[in-house]
Amino acid sequence: MLDVIIIGSGCAGNTAAIYTARANLHPLVVAGKEPGGQLSLTTLVENFPGFPEGVDGPALVENMKQQAINFGAEYIHGQVVEADLSDRPFKLRIDDEWFESRTLIIASGASARWLNLPNEQKLIGHGVSSCATCDGFFYRGKKIMVIGGGDSAMEEANFLTRFGDSVTLVHRRDHYRASKIMLERARNNPKIRMLTDTIVEDVYDVSQNLVSRAKLRNLKTNEAWDEPVDGFFVAIGHIPNTAPFIGQIDLDPDGYIVSKGGARTSRVGVFHAGDVQDRSYRQAITAAGAGCMAAIEAERFLEAEGH
Ligand SMILES: Cc1cc2nc3c(=O)[nH]c(=O)nc-3n(C[C@H](O)[C@H](O)[C@H](O)COP(=O)(O)OP(=O)(O)OC[C@H]3O[C@@H](n4cnc5c(N)ncnc54)[C@H](O)[C@@H]3O)c2cc1C
Repeated sequence: MLDVIIIGSGCAGNTAAIYTARANLHPLVVAGKEPGGQLSLTTLVENFPGFPEGVDGPALVENMKQQAINFGAEYIHGQVVEADLSDRPFKLRIDDEWFESRTLIIASGASARWLNLPNEQKLIGHGVSSCATCDGFFYRGKKIMVIGGGDSAMEEANFLTRFGDSVTLVHRRDHYRASKIMLERARNNPKIRMLTDTIVEDVYDVSQNLVSRAKLRNLKTNEAWDEPVDGFFVAIGHIPNTAPFIGQIDLDPDGYIVSKGGARTSRVGVFHAGDVQDRSYRQAITAAGAGCMAAIEAERFLEAEGH
């Protein structure tokens, strides 16, 4: 019987592991299919406090993990595929094996939706991004492209005009899902050029390890052309990784965990941390902070139960 299982090994899970390990709770961390989480996809992180020159994303999460291991956390490869939270102890199936725990910290993140272009994944961190707050600063004076038609695409496009010379907003339809106010803000921004009925067919140039152009196609005229671009931002939403918890805890209509205050979920003893609950900030530092909160709540919960 474990005191705490932490699901996810990104910033939130690793921070929860550091705190629960230092509280002598011997946490078990389930790394998932993406050990290190989303920061392991990126290169330079310039906004995590404490690193004046910036820090390599994969190195940052690896250091967090090592810090947790030094205090006694255990990491296992594997994926939570099923959960039974109806009763305590909570039961989790990790790949083929069932585990039991008095508390759970769900830190399974939210994966960005990608366009699935042939070169897209190869250029993530080298011009392709899903996070304007994270990467906009790298494109000062450059040509930026944002893909999407919802509020987050409008918000990212507006935000990116602070850095880029121009922002081309590409949307596959001629009407937008975005709210009127966000759409108007984008339309009124002189730096934003809006292309409708247009899809991206691919992004280049893998041989140079950077983005230099995107191939676009107008769906109405079928005309295809190459558009020069330096920063390529995909803003078509995120998918919270909560499939094993459907029907077990309260999720919102998009699948994000509904917080019951602090780090509490609708199930007593089950806590949330990071992007799996946060559709608003989605940053390494906020995820780390949320991991700390979840760990302290789990600790207090176990203490109150006499463990
Ligand atoms: C390309 C890119 C660049 C970024 N750059 C920055 C930046 O510069 N600065 C910044 O602050 N933020 C940046 N971010 C955002 C930041 O990475 C996230 O906000 C942060 O990683 C969220 O941490 P998390 O621990 O909540 O989730 P994640 O990092 O998404 O980690 C989720 C973890 O859960 C695991 N998991 C998922 N499902 C399961 C399951 N069923 N069972 C077990 N494990 C599971 C995954 O394997 C993973 O380990 C960037 C994101 C991306 C994609």
